[in-house]
Amino acid sequence: MEADKGMKDVRQTGENAREGPVISLRPHHGLCLQFFEGKGYSDGFTAHMGQVKAFLEAGARITVTEADDEICSRCPNRKGHGCISDEKVRSYDRKVLEICGLAGGEQMTWEVFRELVKEKIIHGAGRALVCPDCQWQEICEEKEREIRRFGASPSDHCQR
Ligand code: SF4
Repeated sequence: MEADKGMKDVRQTGENAREGPVISLRPHHGLCLQFFEGKGYSDGFTAHMGQVKAFLEAGARITVTEADDEICSRCPNRKGHGCISDEKVRSYDRKVLEICGLAGGEQMTWEVFRELVKEKIIHGAGRALVCPDCQWQEICEEKEREIRRFGASPSDHCQR
């Protein structure tokens, strides 16, 4: 199964005996993951992001992390514990936390986080308020429209 294959390559940042594996996730990646359609900064990055998504959809928990996370770990733009676009991505993270009423360090299932981001941002404030100057804008605009209209992106099945 795709999800099982992904689990081998996704680092777990912890394990809760009762609740299973936990991985670190920057707040704004709650949007990137929902709009992901198999494109990214490098082949390795994109493959890994697909694995992370499959891993999360299989029921993993997340720790909200205001620094480099599991997705950043395979990104060519990562710089130390930050990003070459640090100022920009930190502002995206802050906006997601603020709109969703969350704080760094909180833990929850991916499903809960995904639905919160969907309700408060995609169906609420709007993605453009969070990341208006992101290079992936065109893809995300289209996906956001699909999710608003259908509840999920119809092409979602092809992305995992
Ligand atoms: S390193 Fe920067 S560009 Fe790469 S995934 Fe992390 S936040 Fe995004």
